[in-house]
Amino acid sequence: MARITGVTTDRLVRRLHTPFVTALRRTEHVVSVAVRVTDADGVSGFGEAPQVWRVTGESCESIEACVAGPLTEALVGLDPDQQPTEDVSRRLAASVVGNGGARAAVEVATLDLLARRAGTSLARFLGAEATSVATDVTIAADGSAWSPATLAAAGFDRVKIKVGLDPADVDRVIAIHRADPRHPVRIDANQAWDLASATAAVEAMLGAGVPLEFVEQPLPAWDLAGHAELRRRFGVPILLDESVFTVHDLRRAVAAGATDMVNIKLAKCAGILAGLEIAREAAAAGLGVMVGSMMESELGVSAAAALAAVVAPDGVHDLDAAWWSIQPDDPGTPYRDGRFHLSPAPGLAEVAARSLPEPDEGPTAP
Ligand SMILES: [Mg+2]
Repeated sequence: MARITGVTTDRLVRRLHTPFVTALRRTEHVVSVAVRVTDADGVSGFGEAPQVWRVTGESCESIEACVAGPLTEALVGLDPDQQPTEDVSRRLAASVVGNGGARAAVEVATLDLLARRAGTSLARFLGAEATSVATDVTIAADGSAWSPATLAAAGFDRVKIKVGLDPADVDRVIAIHRADPRHPVRIDANQAWDLASATAAVEAMLGAGVPLEFVEQPLPAWDLAGHAELRRRFGVPILLDESVFTVHDLRRAVAAGATDMVNIKLAKCAGILAGLEIAREAAAAGLGVMVGSMMESELGVSAAAALAAVVAPDGVHDLDAAWWSIQPDDPGTPYRDGRFHLSPAPGLAEVAARSLPEPDEGPTAP
């Protein structure tokens, strides 16, 4: 019996080796909050909550307040060895509205604590047998230092292209595809288009012979009817991201005929158990599942990768976030051969130790 005795946070700031640009923002640093849950035996589990103003509305300050307030109150004193993890997740969910990233980080840290107590990795604890998961790398249509060719040399076979900032993005996608036409093209507009501009863009790309594997979130999150109309017009798979936070959002999207695939992110759905539920419902509805992440460090991506390893290790995943803050030639990088390799060490402690600040910069991992 080992009750949870403490929940603490550390601020994580990591510089990207290449700025990350989407229709919503330009990012040069990864800023997030690491969460540590500790039990009476002194064993710790770890999770990460990303600051994502434009998708989840969470800031580092709001995450820290939420963790220190209602989530700590819900968790401290519980004995997760004696309590189904579903109950722990429900308790966290009942303690606060929204705050999905904060809730996910605390839930992940609790699951990670259990994994570490069991002497196994988080992925194995969740039932995954795979030791790595496939991932693409997301690049901007405009101005990225990385192209499919340079990424192929770095070991990545697949890219996802961010579009929507500029009407010229359509021509850029066509040019990127023509320079390396080996694969169907994945694009993500992050809600930047309306039905008319999305129609024009998709028409132009298809007309230029670009095979679209999927179009991710072309329209605003609320516009399920518009996404359904795009599916009808082109038969190109639509992947919903910002439209689907919860399993209830997924059900509404399916009922509206608005989607072929769903992008599951822990900070949206508020935890691994909720992510698994969405994946199960999506599969039952015949939808494809992508596991993605926000801009996070290796700690948060490891938790998302553990989910991906359970759901479909060789599927279409988007887990490159931490690659942007790890030098590609770092011998310790988890990114090798176009895959994210899960740490075999028990729990995420080893990964957390690499992500957390140095001892003289603040509190650290054990
Ligand atoms: Mg997206």
